[in-house]
Amino acid sequence: MQLQQHCQRCGTCCKNGGPILHPEDLPLVRKGILSHENLVTIRKGEPSFNPFTGKVEPASREMIKIAGKGASWECLFYDAGQSACTIHADRPLECRLLQCWDTRGIEAASGKDCLGRFDLVADQDLVADRIRSHEQQCSYARALPLLEQLSSPRPAETTLAALTDLMQLDLLLRDQAVSALRLSLQQELFYFGRPLFQTLQHPRLRVAMSGASIRLELACSI
Ligand code: SF4
Repeated sequence: MQLQQHCQRCGTCCKNGGPILHPEDLPLVRKGILSHENLVTIRKGEPSFNPFTGKVEPASREMIKIAGKGASWECLFYDAGQSACTIHADRPLECRLLQCWDTRGIEAASGKDCLGRFDLVADQDLVADRIRSHEQQCSYARALPLLEQLSSPRPAETTLAALTDLMQLDLLLRDQAVSALRLSLQQELFYFGRPLFQTLQHPRLRVAMSGASIRLELACSI
């Protein structure tokens, strides 16, 4: 049996999600091939899928990823009809390193020297202070301990209230930035990452939305 030694354009890697960006990808942003609207931020601590362990784990650092298509993580630049990358000549570092038949190159680069939001947003940009304020008030360092407390046999009611307040504050700060700076949803996902009510999941937690209000309920048992 002959071992695979080249890309067969099955599209599996692109369908599983776009790459994380590294300093080598900065020229793509400068040339306008990648814009803020094409990107999504994975904030430090955000529960995210680690393809090397196959588990959802808190992100060890902030990372910038090429966005997916709506609810799917399939890379924005993947043309499924043509089984092709629409920016192939300018694809990011991880895409150039990824060889599914030999993953040593991508494994060596993964999680190291990742770009963060402030590699792509100037300090004097109007959104910069809002990013810092949101990160300070709605960090995963605040959210994850609350989520963990839901696993105790009798979580305190104050835990659920604190989690609700945090998710609500996250939405409020986003809404204020969207209104003041007229941001698109895609820009919001780059500047502030995904909202906490979407990323904080627990088998006992039920999230109900009513307009801009969040209501959390706790199932009795897991
Ligand atoms: S940038 Fe191109 S090669 Fe990389 S994941 Fe997206 S479609 Fe695939």
